[in-house]
Amino acid sequence: MSAPTPENALSPAGRFAPSPSGDLHLGNLRTALAAWGFARATGRRFLLRVEDLDRVKQGAAERNVADLRELGLDWDGPVALQSERIPLLLDRVRTLTDAGLTYECYCTRREIHAAASAPHGIPGAYPGTCRELSAAERERRRAQRPPALRLRAEVTEFAVRDELAGPFTGAVDDMVLVRNDGTPAYNLAVVVDDAEQGVDQVVRGDDLLPSAPRQAYLAALLGHPAPSYAHVPLVLGPSGERLAKRDGAVTLRELRELGYSTGDVLTWLATSLGIEQPVRTTADVLEHWDPSAWLREPTAFQPWPERRTG
Ligand code: GLU
Repeated sequence: MSAPTPENALSPAGRFAPSPSGDLHLGNLRTALAAWGFARATGRRFLLRVEDLDRVKQGAAERNVADLRELGLDWDGPVALQSERIPLLLDRVRTLTDAGLTYECYCTRREIHAAASAPHGIPGAYPGTCRELSAAERERRRAQRPPALRLRAEVTEFAVRDELAGPFTGAVDDMVLVRNDGTPAYNLAVVVDDAEQGVDQVVRGDDLLPSAPRQAYLAALLGHPAPSYAHVPLVLGPSGERLAKRDGAVTLRELRELGYSTGDVLTWLATSLGIEQPVRTTADVLEHWDPSAWLREPTAFQPWPERRTG
């Protein structure tokens, strides 16, 4: 029997990577459609990866997958569960540790917050409190509190290029790689999984654009080129905040209950991306594929009125 082909030896891929914290709303569905379209329009494989390392709601992953299928998206291979990939993720952390690129951090959330909001702190960035502790001090602190593991970053910013946003330079700090409960942290997991799964195209909501520089930097430390990025403007609720459940009927199921078809939802998703031609199916989306013409502003969601039939 021949050895299985490593995932990243397969042809390059795009992906959608939902966190199963609830049902997908129009904003999530729109990102999924964009990610699928970017992959298919460029001849890539398209992967679905459920990021279930935290914020998991019972049954949400299954419903997320069912909704994407109903929308007409297809993907290659089985749905990957991040929780099944933890040994791989921790193995890559060991590579960084062996290279002297990690350190233990014993700070509480409150300590980090206080230090990061000190007059000379970079807002939101970890100020490096635990970076240079002596072995004896680490020993003492470890007995009080299980440590998280942080990256010993050697830069404070990094540049990426985004297909939609253009060149973007953002902050890199000593990000958490492994949380103090032993679970791989988001930035580490996303970088390792993308690289190991052969993902070279990352399409997602532009709330994650500020994370792209630190992720590209981490990828470089692990010996991987940065993927191509496309960060899609968000759908905002009536309050101007990112769309959420409180904004009314925003999931496929809820809109179906109001009397709308999946085609109606696809029409809205495509129009809100900036596709001006009529779209009823995912095939229509590909036929009119031209992200250079897409809207670069967030979309304001207005509640959909109930649709009376008959
Ligand atoms: N799982 C993340 C989320 O749903 C997305 C991660 C990513 O696309 O990089 O917010």
